[in-house]
Amino acid sequence: MGTTTVMPCPILVGNEWREVKTGKTLPVHNPSTGEVIAHTPMCGKDEVDAAVRSAHEAFQTWKDTPPVQRIQVLFRYKMLLEDNFEALAESITREHGKTMTESRGDIRRGIEVVEYACAITELMKGDMLENIASGIDCHTIRQPIGVSAGICPYNFPALVPMWMYPMAIACGNTFVLKPSEKVPLTSIRLIELLIEAGMPKGVLNIVHGGRECVDALLTHPLVRAISFVGSSPVAKYIFETGTQNGKRVQAAGGAKNFVFVMPDADLPKAVEGMIDGAFGCSGQRCMAASTAVVIGDVADHYLPPLADATRELKLGPTDRDKTARLGGVINPEHRDRIIKILDEGVKEGAELLVDGRNMRVESQPNGFYLGPTIVDKVKHGMKICETETFGPVLNVMRFEDFDEAIEIANKQAFGNGACIFTNSGKLAREFSHRIQAGMVGINVGVPAPLAYFPFSGWDYSFFGDLHVQGKEGVLFYTREKVVTSRWHGIGDGEIWHKD
Ligand code: NAD
Repeated sequence: MGTTTVMPCPILVGNEWREVKTGKTLPVHNPSTGEVIAHTPMCGKDEVDAAVRSAHEAFQTWKDTPPVQRIQVLFRYKMLLEDNFEALAESITREHGKTMTESRGDIRRGIEVVEYACAITELMKGDMLENIASGIDCHTIRQPIGVSAGICPYNFPALVPMWMYPMAIACGNTFVLKPSEKVPLTSIRLIELLIEAGMPKGVLNIVHGGRECVDALLTHPLVRAISFVGSSPVAKYIFETGTQNGKRVQAAGGAKNFVFVMPDADLPKAVEGMIDGAFGCSGQRCMAASTAVVIGDVADHYLPPLADATRELKLGPTDRDKTARLGGVINPEHRDRIIKILDEGVKEGAELLVDGRNMRVESQPNGFYLGPTIVDKVKHGMKICETETFGPVLNVMRFEDFDEAIEIANKQAFGNGACIFTNSGKLAREFSHRIQAGMVGINVGVPAPLAYFPFSGWDYSFFGDLHVQGKEGVLFYTREKVVTSRWHGIGDGEIWHKD
């Protein structure tokens, strides 16, 4: 770890790795040190067309490969992922900056999607009803839709791509993956392992880049479905452009998640849950706790230990210091953006309870560090209340009662996650019923669903109908066909009677 080697960043077409020699590139950094570890090529129409055509050709065979054979590749893949587990986690830490524990979580959650996809023989089954009319039967089958593309964000270099391609290919589709241009290296390693597991030529292809590359995917006539995860303005654009071009689209966006702390909560547990929720992965999580909602006099008992625990979090180079709890954020531009949001929040009247804006790591002057920060007295209508910060920043909003807090939380545009810490079953039930968010935690800081449940964002956090993961993932990557059948005569065979 901590190597300064610059890694190659090839595209993959028909199981052949190709260096892109022309056009612009973007540097990939190790956020712990600031070093450049790769250069991502900014692909355009030509590379995308080659990748899509390769996927389209492979689809003709892969769609008719029996599901039980398709998943043999995934069974072998799962074992290879386990064998390479630590190296993959190191790759994530190096290009993203999260801690090794968090990187292990990133890859573990991805492996669980592969395991779920291995059950596709069960998950893709259709329904049947005999005798919908006299002598007529009806059954449904699910078939793959064709070439699917996945466009990924930077914050989960393994998990988000693995939300997409294992399910897509298990269902019989072929795939073009566009990893985040900020973290392309883990994806490359993940797909090298898929090839080693026996993935046939062209079933999965990789392109790299930004808007030009994405637009080429969104408008390519041979692409049938688009899975997107990223920020909300881009998710909205992807959904609108993709659907206008006749594609099925699922587009998950950003978030601003509210976490309620009620006076009857177990406060030490609520401190632990909030620290993990707000500052895990340096806050670069769509399920991060963004706003602590404190009700009644709970602020007096809750905020002092929360602030103390926050000050104790160690900032450091996660690729070499195992005791660091927070690493750098993805790049210097992102750090500057977060500081700007904080400065504006202070101008709007919010107060910094813990101020990490100037925290640095002495041994790594070029790393992209920002200390954990708590902003108190945030009010509805402030920009800092409504903007996704996506950094180690926790807002605090104080309310007199539960009803007022629910009303304000429900006025937010985003609807990804929301949590409550309470010992009251009635309040918890009331909260999960009334809160306008698609994923709810009860005494759980980060209620991110696992592979067999949908990742269920609402409102400005999701565009489309079918989410990634769970049965919705199977529905997204398949089309249903309804077969109604009637047979006349008895054919040539002998009919055997019981009596
Ligand atoms: P981003 O929106 O900047 O980029 C995501 C992808 O879109 C990248 O592959 C990028 O190349 C592409 N892209 C960026 N701008 C584009 C444009 N103008 N046109 C076409 N394509 C474009 O997001 P990010 O900064 O990489 O990731 C962080 C965001 O992702 C946060 O908002 C976070 O909440 C969100 N996220 C959401 C979920 C979820 O499940 N809802 C999960 C993880 C991350």
